[in-house]
Amino acid sequence: MSLLELDGVRVRYGARAALDGVRLSVAEGEVVCVLGPSGSGKSTLLRAVAGLTPVDEGVVRLSGRDQRGVPAHRRGLGLMFQDHQLFPQRDVAGNIAFGLRTRRRSRREAAGRVAELLDLVGLPGAERRAVASLSGGEQQRVALARALAPDPRLLMLDEPLGQLDRDLRERLVVELRQLFGRLGSTVLAVTHDQGEAFALADRVVVMRDGRVVQVGGPVEVWRRP
Ligand code: ADP
Ligand code: ADP
Repeated sequence: MSLLELDGVRVRYGARAALDGVRLSVAEGEVVCVLGPSGSGKSTLLRAVAGLTPVDEGVVRLSGRDQRGVPAHRRGLGLMFQDHQLFPQRDVAGNIAFGLRTRRRSRREAAGRVAELLDLVGLPGAERRAVASLSGGEQQRVALARALAPDPRLLMLDEPLGQLDRDLRERLVVELRQLFGRLGSTVLAVTHDQGEAFALADRVVVMRDGRVVQVGGPVEVWRRP
């Protein structure tokens, strides 16, 4: 069954449609990358799914349920967005535990979960480190751990490696791919970088001017750019 379905989704900003009748589905355990130039509607798509931007027409369904009226924090999503920076005044554990705050847990349970997440993203033992002392790549790992913390049914990433240099991105893409495979995560990620999309995705969705213009496996999309 599709975990996520968008059917005729339209989002308008004034006269302009940022999403113009988008139809898309993501199956359970699938990694889908949305590729498109700046301004094509990629971020708006994620925000509409997250419940952070109102949908003017059409339906967003998660696990078959229409999400109209379901607030963002009740959708069971893990978000790693550019505008959700780490909290510089909290240490690594404090940042990750923020992702757990909506669930009732004892301190011990939360500490155990934080340690597990840090192992998962390749930063074992980093609990007490200051965010400011981390490299860009390490900060991305912490942001990912925070997004994974509540065990979301869908992980949504907006330009997850956008701020990093080329070499590091290439390494992290491989790691992400392995991690998602191991966890069986369902992922919807946005990027403007073709190499990143093709390396990460089971399926690539190409957007232009608020519309989905192509959908397919990385190889298919690569052959008909
Ligand atoms: P992308 O993520 O692909 O760069 P966006 O989803 O950010 O694209 O933007 C799609 C279109 O919607 C662009 O034309 C952008 O200028 C417009 N847009 C996005 N957010 C807003 C907003 N809050 N107010 C008005 N227009 C917006
Ligand atoms: P509000 O006080 O408006 O309800 P929140 O408490 O949801 O806002 O969020 C506080 C801060 O945490 C904001 O800066 C927001 O951008 C950020 N944030 C919210 N949700 C997440 C998340 N899932 N992951 C990372 N940062 C988040």
